[in-house]
Amino acid sequence: MRVLKFGGTSLANAEKFQIVLQIIIKKFKKEQIGIVLSAPSTITNLLFNSITLVLEKKKKIKEIIKKIYIFFRNLINSFKTTKQIIKYKKLKKKIKKKCIFLQKKLKIIKYAKTCSDSIKAKIISIGEKISVYIMYFLLKIKKYHITIIDPVKNFITTGTYLNSKIDLKNSKNNIEKLKIPKTNIILMPGFIAGNQNKKLVILGRNGSDYSAAALSVCTNAKICEIWTDVDGIYTCDPQKISTAVLLKNLIYQEAQELSFFGAKILHPSTISPLKKNNIPCIIKNTNNLTSKGTKINNETKKSHVFIKGLTYIKKIFLITFKIFKKIKILKYIELILNFINIHKIKIFFIKPSYTHQKILICLPTEKKKIILKNLNNFFLKDLSKKKIIYFKITQNLSLVSLISSNFYYNHYIIQFIFQTIQKYKKNIIEIDHSLYNFHFLILLNNTILSSFLKTLHQKIYYQRKKIHIFIIGIGGIGQTLLKQITQQKEFLKNKNKKICIHVISNSKKYLFDKKNILNFDLKNLKQDTLKNFDLKEILKLPENFNIQNPILIDCTSSTQIAKNYINIFKKGFHIVSANKKSNTTNFQSYKKIHKTALFYKKKFFYETHVGAGLPIIKNLKNLLSTGDKFQKFSGILSGSMSFIFGLLEKNITFSKAVKKAKKLGFTEPDPREDLSGIDIARKLLIIAREIGYKLELSDIKIENILPKNILKLKNIEEVMTNLTTLDNIFFEKNKIAQKMNQVLRFIGTIKKDGVCEVKLKSISKKNPLYKIKNGENIFVFYTQYYSPIPLIIQGYGAGKNVTASGMFSDLLHI
Ligand code: ADP
Ligand code: ASP
Ligand code: MG
Repeated sequence: MRVLKFGGTSLANAEKFQIVLQIIIKKFKKEQIGIVLSAPSTITNLLFNSITLVLEKKKKIKEIIKKIYIFFRNLINSFKTTKQIIKYKKLKKKIKKKCIFLQKKLKIIKYAKTCSDSIKAKIISIGEKISVYIMYFLLKIKKYHITIIDPVKNFITTGTYLNSKIDLKNSKNNIEKLKIPKTNIILMPGFIAGNQNKKLVILGRNGSDYSAAALSVCTNAKICEIWTDVDGIYTCDPQKISTAVLLKNLIYQEAQELSFFGAKILHPSTISPLKKNNIPCIIKNTNNLTSKGTKINNETKKSHVFIKGLTYIKKIFLITFKIFKKIKILKYIELILNFINIHKIKIFFIKPSYTHQKILICLPTEKKKIILKNLNNFFLKDLSKKKIIYFKITQNLSLVSLISSNFYYNHYIIQFIFQTIQKYKKNIIEIDHSLYNFHFLILLNNTILSSFLKTLHQKIYYQRKKIHIFIIGIGGIGQTLLKQITQQKEFLKNKNKKICIHVISNSKKYLFDKKNILNFDLKNLKQDTLKNFDLKEILKLPENFNIQNPILIDCTSSTQIAKNYINIFKKGFHIVSANKKSNTTNFQSYKKIHKTALFYKKKFFYETHVGAGLPIIKNLKNLLSTGDKFQKFSGILSGSMSFIFGLLEKNITFSKAVKKAKKLGFTEPDPREDLSGIDIARKLLIIAREIGYKLELSDIKIENILPKNILKLKNIEEVMTNLTTLDNIFFEKNKIAQKMNQVLRFIGTIKKDGVCEVKLKSISKKNPLYKIKNGENIFVFYTQYYSPIPLIIQGYGAGKNVTASGMFSDLLHI
């Protein structure tokens, strides 16, 4: 047996009724079910308001009835089919009858000029009854057997007409006596019950949740499902705080406290009967059937969320009693509680202040009138004898509550709460808390409620995000990255982020700190704090020291490290890489690395593999994943070649241009690595593979501008002197180009069929590559979306600062 309650938000219109019907049918295939229905949302409010409108003569009864009748007539309109016309007419008649009933009641209150609670209860519960008529009709036409439970006859209560408590023992007896066949779907209007005289009473706003809990107990259900319009219980009302987090599990007491202190997702009395009978409760979303919802039971599950909720109640007031100094405060607390009990008022807290001889009591505003009316009388004697010196009312307050079963163990959260209280101290009236309580209460002025909630929620649930990094390779780029991270510390702090550096290493040694490395100077560190470099050992550190979501930053160009990427992902690391080797190995290994990252749900970012900090890979990925189609690419992908060929334009000889580039650090120590075109080929390969071409490095055609004799030389000095033999060749080529108003450029191209070439080309003025010199790079993409004008990304494509910043940006995106 399973009980399902559908709230007003799940029954707001015909489509929603159909969704609910499908849920019912699906669940009934597995076991017997009891269905509790609310009134379609807005109806209860409409009914409530109708009473005031009539009493205040603001609207004609006819108009009110018309509005309600039309709402339901429109709702059921789409259920009308020729086959079901008789049943449909019956339904319509029943709804009409209820509207006539409402009309009669409104007329009574109009003439009586008052509305008794008994009539009020009858009026505001009409919506629930009509919901049951509609669902009965929908199930009947599907030929289901149904038992409708009348809660007035079966749910015995104590309390008032508008706020009653169910006597579960007697109610269970009544339900058992009904002997409902196992083959029947049970249908019941929520919100409604009966008093000892079998007169209709209601269970308070949101009372259908409570009805569902009661039905669960009475039918020995093994679960109670509350279906609503949100995925479950969140850390705060998601309509108030858009960043609220969904909670997967709550224990009964936490849910109880949440609802008591204002989370309207559950009626405050819902949990108690379920808890007593150990029936789990699940909150589910009718609009999102795939969401698992929030489960409430007595299993304490480990959770990273210590504060289970932040709730608020808007209409609150405070009474402060000042007691004569020689009188014992406790005696008065008892007396005040007595007074509150007589009037059956819910109190949120009562707090003695021994130093000030005061008692503070926090109450709902709706009871203010009745309290003030009787308070003077009740304490008249004490006031006149000056035992009570005065009492003071503070109004327009809100009560914010933090709920946790874990305050005792989380002192640092208390610290966050106090920091926020401190910030708003001018508007904070009172706090009430003990570490052993499940709640921490803050009474404040209404005016700051929204701002306070947002700040507190942010503080508690969005503490600084820690980014845990392991840097392998601290050469030029690694060092620069460390510098940039240090410089940005404050900026990141303001964005709620903190980078924790756990490992820095060169190829021989590594330094580890389970918290954060502050001294990066490996050379000057005591040697015994360093360990011999051992990647295997480094990869074990997160597990051994419980470091969450580690990121390995590969600032090396090591083939050995690149070969280990699969292993690194398997050990739970994300990778930010500047090491091109990882993306330029054979295609099979390349694929395996990418697939492993995907399989282990790890990020693999390598923006700096082409164009250093320029956003090439990011943009390419974005274009392709949004459906754009690649057409062709051309670019200057090497800073050194851009510099060298820029100088040729100024009629500087080839050998001098290379020398200058080398001197300024634009080339590798052996400039042949640049001049051979292999670096450009690697970058082309990475772009081409990203586009989807299944290529090997050997497939990239490279025009060799260096003769074999220079390639063979061992000594770099010799290379540099021998380059002069090429001066004439380049002088001639340059002259021809200049005659045609063109320039020489060493470029990379990818054609539509995936053919990749690295070649020397004479470029005309119209070509975007014409202007690129001084070490700048350019990437020109022609795609279906970007044509005839291409997408151009241009800027420095090499250098420590831009490369490190490219890696920095990658790691911040994990
Ligand atoms: P129903 O008609 O289904 O009973 P209610 O409007 O009574 O729906 O309750 C659901 C609403 O409760 C949500 O739309 C949400 O705005 C509000 N709510 C308040 N506090 C919370 C919370 N902590 N988690 C989820 N919802 C909450
Ligand atoms: N319809 C009632 C209300 O709006 C009861 C409920 O929805 O649970 O309060
Ligand atoms: Mg509700």
